[in-house]
Amino acid sequence: MAWIRIKDVMAGMHEAIRDDKMRKELMFEWLNILLALVSFFMTVVNVFTKEYILMVSTFIFSVACIINAVLIRRGTRVKRITYTIFVVETLALLAFFLISGIPNGFSALWMCLIPSFSLLIFGRKSGTRYSIVTFFMLLFFFWLPFGRKMLWYHYTDEFMLRFPFLFVACYLLALFIEVIRAQTQKQLLESERKYYYLYRHDALTGLYNRYGFNAVVDADYKNPGPGKVGMMILDIDDFKHINDRYGHNNGDIVLRGIAQIIRRSFCEKTYYCRWGGEEFTVYLHCEHDYKEAAERLRRYVEEAEFRSGELVMKVTVSVGLCISNSMENVNVAMLVNKADQCLYMAKARGKNCVMSTEIP
Ligand code: GH3
Ligand code: MG
Ligand code: MG
Repeated sequence: MAWIRIKDVMAGMHEAIRDDKMRKELMFEWLNILLALVSFFMTVVNVFTKEYILMVSTFIFSVACIINAVLIRRGTRVKRITYTIFVVETLALLAFFLISGIPNGFSALWMCLIPSFSLLIFGRKSGTRYSIVTFFMLLFFFWLPFGRKMLWYHYTDEFMLRFPFLFVACYLLALFIEVIRAQTQKQLLESERKYYYLYRHDALTGLYNRYGFNAVVDADYKNPGPGKVGMMILDIDDFKHINDRYGHNNGDIVLRGIAQIIRRSFCEKTYYCRWGGEEFTVYLHCEHDYKEAAERLRRYVEEAEFRSGELVMKVTVSVGLCISNSMENVNVAMLVNKADQCLYMAKARGKNCVMSTEIP
């Protein structure tokens, strides 16, 4: 059972890398569980060392931490209250630690943990605010005569003078680590975004590649709407000839130019893809006359001039089109298959034309 929980936590952590709010909540939850365990352990230790006041305070804190860990999973308002309760209870416990110093001034040292976990959970701004409040509390008790009078434990002057500096050092170290963590997270998200884009798009034309295309078309199929759907396959005619005559780089310019034409030619709910090589697919799910749209696209390409310096290149495309009157009877593979058969017919008919078929 335990290992399943740890697996869940690891999965949660992985998700939380992407979502900063989620990360903070997860950290908060686990920090409270950790604090609850530590303070419960300290409660047991305090029973054996007969520090009964400390025992009661650590026990109350331990219960409060468990309540926090449970509440953080509730609605937004409860979450905000939970954070406030946590700040108040930790400050109260730390004030008690400072005043009592039980045992032998040791509990004051727990304050050094504040900067690291407050920056981790509350982020740079709120964590710094929380650390500053703690720091002023420290100065109040250690450096102001009025605060010193409230202390039960007699710390040495040396300790009271030097300890706030140790706290500042702990804060700076925690800030340094937090800045590095935040930067690393930003870079990770950025490279993940780039990787995801490249995974779904063709690097040359910026259109979807097959993976991206299949994903968006499948998504459209998952929420089938009314109206016809259409699949077009375009293949540049005699493209090998362009490459042979003008070179591969100029061939690339033509491919990019055709991608631009395709992008500008259709309505919104249309997805375009570089299917491979010099072939493109277009998935249509809108109110347009698809045959007319395919013919218009063919004409646009025929009329276009692709320029590379002084060089002007002209090409034509053959188009295969499959139209289905509803989304129920056909799947994406069938649409592609039929459109491909039409493309084959268009090539056989002498290229630079549109051949279409309709599924009732
Ligand atoms: P058809 O009219 O029958 O389609 O003839 P085609 O010459 O267009 O077809 P073929 O399949 O013989 O040649 C396709 C060419 O497309 C061959 C290949 O070098 C070229 N090609 C494929 N991918 C790229 C690319 O990314 N850039 C360039 N410049 N050419 C490419
Ligand atoms: Mg081809
Ligand atoms: Mg071709």
